Amino acid sequence: MTFEEKVDLLRGVLTKSFQAMVDMGFVRLDECKGGFAISADKAKELSARGLGAAASIDDSSGKPVMYFDPGMDPKGLVWVATHEAVHLAQIAKGDFEPSFGYVLWKGQRFEGLDASDPNYFSKDHQPWEHEAAKIEKEIRKQIGLGSIDAALESVDH
Ligand SMILES: [Zn+2]
Repeated sequence: MTFEEKVDLLRGVLTKSFQAMVDMGFVRLDECKGGFAISADKAKELSARGLGAAASIDDSSGKPVMYFDPGMDPKGLVWVATHEAVHLAQIAKGDFEPSFGYVLWKGQRFEGLDASDPNYFSKDHQPWEHEAAKIEKEIRKQIGLGSIDAALESVDH
């Protein structure tokens, strides 16, 4: 799969995920109007932190942006996109503001934990991750990851 095909795949999954989150009442359509960006610019920083993807706020446009490692395989990308989609929606809603070394969640400052920390998905330590873990499951149910798997089978990679 080429780089462009991976970006297209991510755009498709993120768009479906946003539709699912609007349908379930997690985010309002007008909050999604600004859209989102997809970038592989931070691949080095991601792999240094042991991550395949991350959501942030684009410095120049102020839009929610999903950074990803283009070395990931298509199935891995689909999986992480349903998780990062929740963070993009949290950013669009104004709940989640990732910054350098810390996070603002609903106006409260939290220190970001390492991906291997046992409290990573804890409601008390990283409530944005706790919420994302819950919502991503709903998204996967709603968008039917099976149909995406079938679509991937038809792509040469
Ligand atoms: Zn996360």
